[in-house]
Parts: sequence; C-alpha cells; structure tokens
Amino acid sequence: MTMTALPIERARQLDAADPLASFRGRFAPTEPGLVYLDGNSLGRPTLAALQRIRALGDEWAADLIRGWDRWLDLPSQVGDLLAAGVLGAKPGEVAVTDSTTVNVYRLAAAALDARPGRRAVAIARPEFPTDRYVIEGLARERDLEIRWLDADAVDGPTTADLQPVLDSNLALVVLSHVTYRSAAIADAPAITTLAREAGALVLWDLSHSGGSVPLELEAWGVDLAIGCTYKYLNGGPGAPAYLYVRRSMQDELRPPIQGWFAQAEQFEMGPRFERANGIRGWLVGTPGILGLTSAAAGIELVAEAGIEAIRAKGVALTDYAIELYDALLATPGCALGSPRDAARRGAHVAIRHPAARRLTSDLAARGVIVDFREPDVMRFGLSPLTTSFDEVRLGIAKLVELLSRL
Ligand SMILES: *Cc1c(COP(=O)(O)O)cnc(C)c1O
Repeated sequence: MTMTALPIERARQLDAADPLASFRGRFAPTEPGLVYLDGNSLGRPTLAALQRIRALGDEWAADLIRGWDRWLDLPSQVGDLLAAGVLGAKPGEVAVTDSTTVNVYRLAAAALDARPGRRAVAIARPEFPTDRYVIEGLARERDLEIRWLDADAVDGPTTADLQPVLDSNLALVVLSHVTYRSAAIADAPAITTLAREAGALVLWDLSHSGGSVPLELEAWGVDLAIGCTYKYLNGGPGAPAYLYVRRSMQDELRPPIQGWFAQAEQFEMGPRFERANGIRGWLVGTPGILGLTSAAAGIELVAEAGIEAIRAKGVALTDYAIELYDALLATPGCALGSPRDAARRGAHVAIRHPAARRLTSDLAARGVIVDFREPDVMRFGLSPLTTSFDEVRLGIAKLVELLSRL
C-alpha cells in the first residue's frame, strides 16, 4: 500500500464538518507538527487552566493564608461541576480530591465495611494495575478471597463474566467502565443491577470514561465511583481525582480515613472526630488547589462542548481510525485490539503488533505520540476536544510507513 491510500481530502472534509473543531483553539498549542494521540494518558492543557494557574500564583502571593476563605470549598464546588456536566450525578455527590488510587482504597474499604458478613471481592483479571494492587492489599489486610473475572481482553467485562462469582459471600465488585487497554465499554447499568440483586456493591473506575463517554450515574443506579481528571478532563499532571458516593449511601458508609477536612466543625479543632454531613465527610486533608483550579477549567470546557457532542466525535474519530486500519494495517502481524462496534468502544483505538514497543518509540521519534501497553498494544488516544481527523491520518500513515520498513 502507498500513502495515496490515505487521501488528505477525506480527513480535511471530516475536520471541516466537525462541530467541535473550534475547541482545538481553546488549548495551548503543541510544538509545530506534533501529532499527539495520548490525551487518554495526559490530556493537553486548556488555555483557561494556564491562565487561572498564573492568576492563582498571584493570589497566593498576595493573599497568603487569607486565600483559604476562597479555596476551602473547591473540592465540592468542582465536584458539583463534574457531577452536572460529566457524571450525571446530583450536587453534593462528588468531591474532587486526592488520587484515583487513594480513592479506590477509601471507597472499596468503606464498601467492604458495609458488607461485614461477606468475605469475597471480585475484580477483572485485565483490570488497570492500581485497582488490582489496591484490592490485593485490602484482601490481604482483611483476609478476603479475590474472585478474578476472566473478562475478554478486547471486549471487556460483561454480566456473563460476573454471573459465576455472584453469591451471598460476595461483598464488592471493582471494574473500569472503559477498559484502559482496549477501550471496551462495560454495561454499567446492567452490571450494577445484577450485583445489587446479589447484595454486592460495585465500585466503578471512570478514569477512561469521564469526559469521553456519557455517564448517568444516578439513572444507572451506581452507588460508588472514582476517576481521574488528567485524561479526558485535561486537569494536568497530578490533578486531583474524584469520588462519587450516591447520596443515600453517604451516611451508611464510613470513610476509613478520618481527616480533619471531614470534621463537621473543622476549625473548632475539637477533641473527637464528628463527621460532616454529605460529601464533605469524604474529604481527608488539605486539597491541592493548583490542580483543582486547572481541573475546573477542563471540566468546564467539557461541559461547554457537551458530552453528547464529545461522544459523537469520539465515535467518528475511532471509526475513522478503524477505517484506515482496515485499509492499510490489516496485514499479518497487526491485530485490532479494540471493539469494532462503536457503541462498545470509548475514545481510543488499540492496535496490536509484536513489535509494538519499538514501533511506539519510533513513532515518538517522528513526532507521533501514542503509548505502549504490555505486551503488544499501541494505544491511539483520540481526545475529541483536541484531536483532529488529520492527526489520525498522520498517525496511521506514520505507522504504515514504519511497518513497511520492518
Ligand atoms: C489512569 C488510571 C488510574 C490512575 O490512578 P492514579 O492514582 O491517578 O495514578 C486509575 N485507574 C484507571 C482505570 C486509570 O485508567
């Protein structure tokens, strides 16, 4: 195949017809010629975030400790923005705080405490490492049985995978809504309902979903969820993660870490812990205001664009990538590592090849940033607000060129 099989015109037409095209101008430009297809690992900075961080620097310098009057409630304020604009949750159900990993631990521990008679926890074998490691640690600490779900590596976990592990001993299920390797979307409402009928709680990891696919946590009956803000929400490196606790569960569950930011009358500095009502009772310690500030800018931009429009472009970008894959890459050695059905696929496309590691670094050397996941996956992350169809074309063209020289 030659490069003429990748007509520039088609990519340009798709870009010209893209209703979100103008949003690319709301992000800090990349170096000229860079094709950034890794927004699913670290989203690009919004211009608003960079401006607000600079302004925050000035506030810090001028206001010092007095700034906290304004900063103190940011975890729940930004949580409310996220709840309304991205998660399909109610005000007071989401806090933006701490890391995803710490939030997995906290919500999983609280869920296990709420099911004291049950001694098993289920998690998918191909689940994101940090979730598995945290659950392994909790299982060791509490002497629990781990039930590994043999979810398909491409199609992700299904109700059929869950069925065999459901019984009266199962306390908790931990799953990603969009799988980090293949981008498979799990049927969150069906899995949540099935687990709940068996008396178990489900903790959803939304790290690859938030800002890329529609979420309706309330409508789906989700009780517990966590996720990060630095992928499709463009919050920046180390920006705080979020946690969602359904309103009706907030008092029933007990947070395992009793920090002073969860204390009802925080500044009375009283002798005993008395937990604040609502989502504030799930905070721990001093929140990271710089990260919250940039995360808020990203979340607001996602809400402004609208998650339905973002989803439509995510489908169009990944469909286009697969169209190019079929035309140019469906050769011996390559395999598609993502679901073909757009309804079951998030916003990245996995391409598998035995030389994936080397190809990923060769692509980077030529200005195309994708990422490698063991053992043979290249992830092409197509962030709907920042990725153009022409970048998809350029990225795939470079891969075709590299493969022809292997
Ligand atoms: C990115 C990601 C995380 C990240 O966890 P951190 O604590 O923010 O490092 C967790 N889970 C999933 C599924 C992810 O994709």
